[in-house]
Amino acid sequence: MNYKNITVAGSGVLGSQIAYQTAFKGFQVTVYDINDEALERAKERISQLKPHYQADLGATQEEVEAAYGRMSFSSDLSQAVADADLVIEAIPEVVSIKNDFYANLGKTAPEKTIFATNSSTLLPSQFAEATGRPEKFLALHFANEIWKNNTAEIMKHPGTDMGVFQDVVEFAKAIGMVALPLHKEQPGYILNSLLVPLLDAAQRLLIKEVADVETIDKTWMVATGAPMGPFAILDVVGINTAYNIGRAKAEATGDEEFQKIADLLKSEYIDKGKLGRATGEGFYKY
Ligand code: NAD
Repeated sequence: MNYKNITVAGSGVLGSQIAYQTAFKGFQVTVYDINDEALERAKERISQLKPHYQADLGATQEEVEAAYGRMSFSSDLSQAVADADLVIEAIPEVVSIKNDFYANLGKTAPEKTIFATNSSTLLPSQFAEATGRPEKFLALHFANEIWKNNTAEIMKHPGTDMGVFQDVVEFAKAIGMVALPLHKEQPGYILNSLLVPLLDAAQRLLIKEVADVETIDKTWMVATGAPMGPFAILDVVGINTAYNIGRAKAEATGDEEFQKIADLLKSEYIDKGKLGRATGEGFYKY
């Protein structure tokens, strides 16, 4: 793995974190976004990360400033990727936006550049052709609050070159991640393939009035030794997100239980301002 220059495309919630973490670990990082206003917002977002690195990782003032010093910002794609070894894409989760971006990027980036998508729900094979270089394209998926929740799921599509895959695994380690290689495409990667069924099952038990929140969580925790039960996890995810997912599933499948779950989350939690940990109360009080 000879990567030196990394470009992060899309500087929203995740892109700004990926860019700063990569710079913090010593790489030169170019942040690309659609216009200068978006880049101004990114600079603000990134500056707000510095105290977290100091509080959570014990980083010094010098270290957090040096990391920022390794970053540059550009809204000109050809300039942003001119010498990029790797482009990490963290633009909106919209197929048409990503397709257009990859078609453009494939024409603009030098031949050496590897492309990685941070997409949570879309598979790399959906965009492989659009990139014009399917063998140099794969998924590299981070979690929110990357400096603490430092997982990186690295996922091949059938056409990804094995050497490229190994290089990206090494890169993930080099930026302080626990690298988690997936040798096949899997919607939801490993984490959500495990977590979503657990959270769904817990909510179904609740809506069927089989047991209450505390009993369901206690069962999981005592029996498996896990530090949190599914409802405590839902409080971290946020009740709004849980509601949006539940409603979408109800619409897609016509499953009445999902609809009842969504209705319960809305009337008993969202409408009462209980949005989870972020607001101090969800299924539990914090
Ligand atoms: P976001 O909306 O916070 O940020 C998206 C950024 O992309 C914005 O800065 C926007 O200006 C920019 N953008 C829009 N169109 C663009 C284009 N054509 N070229 C370059 N930049 C463009 O989104 P986010 O939450 O950071 O999510 C980005 C990606 O990361 C998605 O694929 C999402 O699935 C994935 N992801 C998000 C999370 C999360 O917790 N938010 C976690 C893991 C992965």
